[in-house]
Amino acid sequence: MPTTDNETPDVSELTPPSRTLMGPGPSNTNPRVLRAMSTPLVGHLDPSFVEIMNDVQELLRYTFRTDNEWTIPVSGTGSAAMEAAIGNLVEPGDTMLVPTNGYFGDRMASMARRAGGTVVEVDAPWGEPLETPTVEDALETHDPDVFGFVHAETSTGVLQPNVPELTAVAHEHDALVIADTVTSLGGVELRVDEWDIDVAYAGPQKCLSCPPGASPLTLSDEAMEKVLSREQAPRSWYLDLSLLEGYWGDERAYHHTAPITNVYALREALRLVAEEGIESRWDRHERIAGALKAGVEGMGLEMNAPEEYWLPSLNAVQVPDGIDDSEVCETLLERYDLEIAGGLGDLSGEIFRIGCMGHSARAENVIFVVTALDDVLE
Ligand code: PLP
Repeated sequence: MPTTDNETPDVSELTPPSRTLMGPGPSNTNPRVLRAMSTPLVGHLDPSFVEIMNDVQELLRYTFRTDNEWTIPVSGTGSAAMEAAIGNLVEPGDTMLVPTNGYFGDRMASMARRAGGTVVEVDAPWGEPLETPTVEDALETHDPDVFGFVHAETSTGVLQPNVPELTAVAHEHDALVIADTVTSLGGVELRVDEWDIDVAYAGPQKCLSCPPGASPLTLSDEAMEKVLSREQAPRSWYLDLSLLEGYWGDERAYHHTAPITNVYALREALRLVAEEGIESRWDRHERIAGALKAGVEGMGLEMNAPEEYWLPSLNAVQVPDGIDDSEVCETLLERYDLEIAGGLGDLSGEIFRIGCMGHSARAENVIFVVTALDDVLE
């Protein structure tokens, strides 16, 4: 019912349910991050905030394993960082090579088209990674300016295992490489500089266990050179990195009002990464997700991805015959306050997607998921 000007809406106090978040994201937030979010607001140009911005940039470089000067949180969700990467790197007339092996390759394609680019595809079925020779053939055939791939495909639970090979062949063909690291940053081995990735973007709500709102992005000098020498400005004013340089670069001049509280949150989430140590954190995800995998396999269920490209942060488990995945997810939510998800696109109805990310990647959660799933599937 639409309300009229005369009616006062009768809305009760906010009391969201307390869920265990073991789906494709968001993951549960560490209480330290929530506490950081309740600290006082300062202005987005306050000298104390400028210090906080420096801290976040330094912590992001550590987490991405990069020395890239151009490392910032983009205001918005992972898709904003994604669009900042693609919308700035792809100029009208450019060609971008994108993968077909999951949901987020399609999103890359839509963004590249909107940026005025021509999209060409490198094929692999949903649920499989890209093979180096197939990518090499596509680079040979289409001569793209930009090659995008998804390091950790949240829709399929597949880890792209051969990243250094992919960047090497792309660079041999003079293509810049954009990596979607939304579901890998802070949870799965990722080495931006060593692997020669030109641009990587991520989301804070997955393995960093931070509420969405400020999303990591890093660009090499070479990628930034291309951005700064564009003939036409990018179509988005908000995500134009040459303008954002004024705020996140040396000048620290107003561009837009940064989501201050989200930047606080990201700072604390990244401090937790640094305290744990990035490599120990990758190991923890592998160990805890390994226990989850052993648990579901012990129940007689099968993982969808083979061991070589199993993605610890997102475990794709085959739905047994005769089981309705959405009913299982609903029952888990109602009975256990536990969130997992079903499949998307080509894998709709075929897989459960069980996340093991950041603060949610803990032994007690594994025992809980396995026990609850076993109960609901009985
Ligand atoms: N890329 C991948 C691999 C993702 O999993 C997601 C979100 O789940 C995105 C991009 C988009 O991020 P967001 O939903 O935060 O905009």
